[in-house]
Amino acid sequence: RKVTGRQVRKALEHNINPFTKVPHTPRYHEMLEARRKLPVYDQMDEFYKIFNKNQIIIIAGETGAGKTTQIPQLVAYADLPHVNGKLVACTQPRRVAAMSLAKRVADEMDVQLGRHVGYSIRFEDMTEPGTTFLKYMTDGILLREATSDPTLDRYSTIILDEAHERTLATDILMGLLKLLAKKRSDLKIIIMSATLDARKFRNYFGIKKGSSVPLFKVSGRAHPVEVFYTQEPEPDYVEAAIRTVLMVHRAEDPGDVLLFLTGEEEIEEVCKKIKLEVDDLVNQDPDSVGPIVCVPLYASLGPQQQQRIFDPPPKPQRPNGPPGRKVVVSTNIAETSLTIDGIVYVIDPGFWRVSVYNPRLRIESLLVCPISKASAQQRAGRAGRTRPGKCFRLYTEKDFMSELEEQTHPEILRSNLATTVLGMVKAGVRDLVKFDYVDSPAPETLMRALELLNNLAALDDDGNLTPLGSVMAEFPLDPQLSKMLIASPEFRCSNEILTITAMLSVSNVWLLPSNQRREADAAKALVTVPDGDHLTLLNVYNSYIRNKHDEKWARNNFLSARALAEAENVREQLQRIMERYELELTSIADEKMMYNAIRKALCCGFFMQVAHRVGDQGNYLTVKDNQVVSLHPSCGLHPQPEWVIFNEFVLTTRPFIRTVTGVQPKWLLELAHVYFDLATFGDGETKTALKRVLNEKVGTSGRVKRLNKGMKKQC
Ligand code: ADP
Ligand code: MG
Repeated sequence: RKVTGRQVRKALEHNINPFTKVPHTPRYHEMLEARRKLPVYDQMDEFYKIFNKNQIIIIAGETGAGKTTQIPQLVAYADLPHVNGKLVACTQPRRVAAMSLAKRVADEMDVQLGRHVGYSIRFEDMTEPGTTFLKYMTDGILLREATSDPTLDRYSTIILDEAHERTLATDILMGLLKLLAKKRSDLKIIIMSATLDARKFRNYFGIKKGSSVPLFKVSGRAHPVEVFYTQEPEPDYVEAAIRTVLMVHRAEDPGDVLLFLTGEEEIEEVCKKIKLEVDDLVNQDPDSVGPIVCVPLYASLGPQQQQRIFDPPPKPQRPNGPPGRKVVVSTNIAETSLTIDGIVYVIDPGFWRVSVYNPRLRIESLLVCPISKASAQQRAGRAGRTRPGKCFRLYTEKDFMSELEEQTHPEILRSNLATTVLGMVKAGVRDLVKFDYVDSPAPETLMRALELLNNLAALDDDGNLTPLGSVMAEFPLDPQLSKMLIASPEFRCSNEILTITAMLSVSNVWLLPSNQRREADAAKALVTVPDGDHLTLLNVYNSYIRNKHDEKWARNNFLSARALAEAENVREQLQRIMERYELELTSIADEKMMYNAIRKALCCGFFMQVAHRVGDQGNYLTVKDNQVVSLHPSCGLHPQPEWVIFNEFVLTTRPFIRTVTGVQPKWLLELAHVYFDLATFGDGETKTALKRVLNEKVGTSGRVKRLNKGMKKQC
């Protein structure tokens, strides 16, 4: 029995909600009115014709056409997942988008969020097993599910949305789903993209039984957008962006503004500055300009704050006064994931922040990079949603033509693949090199990932998954962290390592307001443990719990209550996985012994991220890679130990290591003897120093050897 557009339109108009058997509310009909205006709605008949006949479909269409909100609903009317006990999944590259879209669609379908329609993102599952039939989720979560349940039997249709963004998880999922499609003829797969050129995906999914994968094009209804460039390159894009917002607010007709910036701090800072400047103007002359509301939008915002992007602009201060304006200051998320109606002016400085991995140095750094031409076009398009708009590009036309790449570089070509490779091996991928990638990663990056996983004993020397690796893959964490967690019961400090891991997995807990810098630093000094930043994080978390999760206490101590609450949630989730695998939760009462135990457990996961002090300038040399690094200014180590383990290598003005804890070299030799086999070291200060330690140890007893044998089993 195949569903037609006519039947579905009838069901949509009907008084009873077919999914809940409850009468529709008036609000449902109001929202349906708006949905009828979306291009996808007009093409419903065509959609069902293609959907009914094909297993794999590519959908391409302008942002705002209704792909993300409507297509999963249309699929639900065809699949009837609530009757068949299956789910329809729709992936998003970003958490914020998954949450926000699930909420929107739950409202549109007149059902409760978290019941019939839900979302699932890392560390937060807002679904109800058995009831939820439509699930928005991050691509990372679906990839995780695919590793532990490679047949993905729970799903009747899987929709990979925003495929043009080419995130690592979406790329790998395309590969896995292409294979799975052959095994599960009942599974439908939809790839959705905002770029009209979907040739890449069509070629990838290729010819199936003589017919090519169909492309369903959703026609856009965009208005023209006039694009302006700067005459000269802008030396400071942040300053130029603020100037342009003010220019628009003073000189242009009513209509909201969307400004693209690169990250949370920058966005918050710019919001404050714009607000101050406009308030100044309004105070000087209330007739010159209207009020302004700046709304930030970035990944780590809470759901209520996110929702503010959909608020109407502020009202004029008095009747007939100059109209108010809403300015959304956003990361790339507003480029295609979320459509904000009412945007008429887009300001595009031409940058985004991306993580770039250097496999040779094993460094992942967040860099502010130029966007691609495709991105610039998407950004401009945001201005023409409701009426003709304007886009101000804060770069020259010449730079646009000659400096920007055509397409966004796929993430798989610039990422650390360790976590992904572990997942792929767990999912049963036998040959990582021959895997059918949309774009194949650099062999060097694959090698680095295999080497890391082998060093952590997650893969054996033949690349097979070890029992340890199998458990590691169950944790939604980087392999170093999951290894450390799994090793921690051996040192009787798993409760503490659990806390530290949770704290490392959430956004920054330290509030450092620029106007209260000294007070914030003093507050931080009070909780700092001089032996290591990891221990400081533990201390902060424990103080938070001791102070009964009090937000006021957090604020007074310049700590982010939101990040701490998040850490508590993450800790709980990780604890559940520990319990599932019968990993004992233990603590040591004696503080000094506990701190040593924690540092040993750290060594088990992070022995590849060790640095050794050289010279007397406070510099360190990373072990094996021999990079000269300094302790990040946020580091609280005192005095500076000779050997340290670090959580992160960051490249800003110069190379820094961040979140650093002192360790003893003998622990490294004992706990990671394969990696610290001195035969694998080049000559240099590090090797000499390690040799000295080794001689001392062997000189006193043969314990090292015996311990090595023992640890091989443990770690
Ligand atoms: P696409 O995926 O094709 O870019 P969407 O399905 O995301 O399009 O959006 C369709 C329409 O739904 C847009 O006009 C958008 O403004 C509207 N919309 C989506 N989410 C919300 C929301 N939370 N509040 C108000 N409108 C929304
Ligand atoms: Mg979309």
